[in-house]
Amino acid sequence: MKKQGNPNDPGATSGLRLLLCDATGKACGMSSLDEAWVSSPIQCFDNAVDMNPELIAVRFGQMPVGDSGILVELITALKRNSHTRRRPVLALLHSKHRKLLEEIHLAGADLVRYVGETMLDPPRLNQIIDGLNPDDRLAAHLAVICRFLHYNSMDSRHELIVCGAYLDRMVLGGDRLHQLCETEDHRQCEYFLNPRLNS
Ligand code: SF4
Repeated sequence: MKKQGNPNDPGATSGLRLLLCDATGKACGMSSLDEAWVSSPIQCFDNAVDMNPELIAVRFGQMPVGDSGILVELITALKRNSHTRRRPVLALLHSKHRKLLEEIHLAGADLVRYVGETMLDPPRLNQIIDGLNPDDRLAAHLAVICRFLHYNSMDSRHELIVCGAYLDRMVLGGDRLHQLCETEDHRQCEYFLNPRLNS
């Protein structure tokens, strides 16, 4: 049986180290007293209030950014609720996406890691949690990725990534996106240094 927190004392923890919300089907073996896994945002919110875990992790799978709204709302609710707002929230993202980072930053998430398609089992999660450091803060991730990345929806599942420093007319992908725009090297980009912006 899982240990229960004390909803009347938001500072008290249940001893639960981690509550993971992962609807991707890529979590397994999470049934110990130290960790709990749920697959829906509502379950996650309920368990976060009841169990007051030390850390709440929310996994965003590979999905159109519009579909991530319910998980962003979950983080917002966790950070507004008096019983859960002191608990750090770790967002586990599939890959770098500046717009999503901005949304979860506004929602109040504390930390970010990119996990791709990795199956999350207790050893892998412990490795991630034990390795968390200041570079995993939201602000640090946002500083790495170029602020001129713009994401235009093509349909319900696809986005076109374009450069806002080139009037949204340059489509980005491949090496340029991953090795320049999504890294600190973006600060040396000619368009970043001399942006052409809509007046
Ligand atoms: S091309 Fe340059 S300015 Fe445009 S998004 Fe990439 S790094 Fe930023």
